[in-house]
Amino acid sequence: MPEKSLVVDLHCHSTASDGTLAPTDVVKRAAQQGVDVLALTDHDSTDGLDDAYTQATTSGLRLIPGLEISTTWQGKLLHVVGLDIDPDSTELRQGIAGLQAMRDQRASDMGNSLAKAGFSDAENAARELAGDGMVTRTHYARYLVNAGAARDMKQVFKRYLISGKPGYVKVDWVDISTAIGWIRQAGGIAVLAHPLRYRLTASWLNRVLKAFHEHGGTGVEVVCGNHSPDDNARAAMFARKHGLEASAGSDFHEPGPWIELGRLASLPDQLDAVWRRWQ
Ligand code: AMP
Ligand code: MN
Ligand code: MN
Ligand code: MN
Repeated sequence: MPEKSLVVDLHCHSTASDGTLAPTDVVKRAAQQGVDVLALTDHDSTDGLDDAYTQATTSGLRLIPGLEISTTWQGKLLHVVGLDIDPDSTELRQGIAGLQAMRDQRASDMGNSLAKAGFSDAENAARELAGDGMVTRTHYARYLVNAGAARDMKQVFKRYLISGKPGYVKVDWVDISTAIGWIRQAGGIAVLAHPLRYRLTASWLNRVLKAFHEHGGTGVEVVCGNHSPDDNARAAMFARKHGLEASAGSDFHEPGPWIELGRLASLPDQLDAVWRRWQ
């Protein structure tokens, strides 16, 4: 009988950032979906990892401690996933504390800006939706959809939360080299998240991947939750070209019809999987 292949998912979110499930429930759901190796990768936060780890022990899956760091490189917003990090690393803790402070300031600025656009209760509502977790644009988006400002998440980002729109506040996060440095100092590996979502031209994406590799990045997400087979093939081509390893992650945020934990295509050929370390 052929060996059952390993089910991995190395990118997802909980209530520690902009997911809707508590870390414990993310892990339970992953186990129900047959995931063997799961990385919880909340935005600029490791707060969910303790609970996730405890549940993973009960659920019998392997939890890889992770996070997704917001970075700005040459004016572009890029997300860097750190995998197998030590959440107690001083450099990493200090680094993300700075990002959390920037997020908090941005949340206030977004609130003021949206108040001027007629949504006076936006900030309170977004903070309440975030609870103890990080305030993100997603929380503002959920509030605005609930308030009837747009019909769905896609529309609300387009109308309110991207550059040039009333709820958008520009932030210079940290450079990719800084984020990669924190991750490596914490003993982890850095993976460039969802490379095709930045809508970069091929020449820009090549520039990003070259810099990412030169600064000590290890891999790039090749298989993503929202990718078509063509997207996977295209991302695979970029990974091979730059000598980067390949990762796979759903970027699950909430239960819904489209994205599910662990529901990912298999890796295209001629790539080194980042998860071979954890097999
Ligand atoms: P932030 O890091 O606070 O700026 O929020 C970014 C988050 O917003 C991403 O991680 C996504 O979860 C979410 N997001 C960004 N663009 C969209 C979109 N067009 N539709 C739905 N969610 C989005
Ligand atoms: Mn998100
Ligand atoms: Mn992301
Ligand atoms: Mn993500």
